Amino acid sequence: MRIASLFEQKKTVFSFEVFPPKKTSSVDTIYETLDELQSLRPDFISVTYGAGGNAAGATTCDIASLIKHKYGIEPLAHLTCINDSKSEIKEILNLLEQNGIENILALRGDINPNKTPKNEFKYASELVTFIKERGGFHISGACYPEGHMDSENLVEDVLHLKKKVDAGAQHLISQLFFDNAFFYSFVERARIAGINVPIEAGIMPVVNKKQIERMVTLCGASLPPKFVKMMQRFEHSPEALRDAGIAYAVDQIVDLISQGVDGIHLYTMNNPYIAKRISENISGLLGA
Ligand code: FAD
Repeated sequence: MRIASLFEQKKTVFSFEVFPPKKTSSVDTIYETLDELQSLRPDFISVTYGAGGNAAGATTCDIASLIKHKYGIEPLAHLTCINDSKSEIKEILNLLEQNGIENILALRGDINPNKTPKNEFKYASELVTFIKERGGFHISGACYPEGHMDSENLVEDVLHLKKKVDAGAQHLISQLFFDNAFFYSFVERARIAGINVPIEAGIMPVVNKKQIERMVTLCGASLPPKFVKMMQRFEHSPEALRDAGIAYAVDQIVDLISQGVDGIHLYTMNNPYIAKRISENISGLLGA
């Protein structure tokens, strides 16, 4: 099933992100995660590409295939292009197709200062064009409510996003954010720019303080005072911080659904317990 069609059928699409087990973890950990996530019946599950994953044998394609064929859930395979040649991307696309994967999140990938990019793709929009010309896939793209770290300003960023959508991205998933006001302003800018595809809000619940600090350094999301207070108050009590983090994410989601968001994409961090607690809290709202 192509992901865009979900938005025609559902009031609010609800999806998860998982990552391939780390090189140091057993491949079996992903089975445990997916066993539990399956029971929450998300509309689709996305699988990240590169960036620290890839335990022996567990590539993005393997896991996406597992999600589709073993668990009966639609997968969305992430794919970055900055460090790959066109022929390498072609091979990956063939492999995804052979495994029955129909949906790709086309990404540029972060520029690694220790790695020279291949320069056959400079931006995600070029990957979108490449996939579109090949045919056979539904294409999604990433977007940034607070602007991408490399972009000069919010207007330039949204104009670049428009190019990605015009190239063929049919659905967008946002970077995480902790203040919904950023998301609402972004959606307004996108709609004014003529971006009319569904935009899912990316929500990351706090699992622990270190994880959030790392994510914020990587993506530059702002931390509202209420959020900072919560982390300071509970930083030495992991269970309290976890419960407060779940409540914070639920609060964000309730507000987003009330404002008519197209979908919620939950960054599960491969933690089914947190995904379950959040799902239980919002399941009644998704079809309302
Ligand atoms: P692009 O859309 O190419 O944008 C990158 C920058 O270039 C932006 O500043 C944009 O404004 C600018 N730009 C775009 N087009 C032009 C143009 N024509 N001229 C000038 N400037 C331009 N990374 C991974 O490694 N693996 C993953 O699995 C992964 N999954 C992600 C999932 C989501 C939902 C998100 C939000 C991010 C994910 N990332 C992942 C991170 C992503 O790879 C980085 O944020 C990366 O730096 C940008 O990727 P992009 O596809 O958004 O790039």
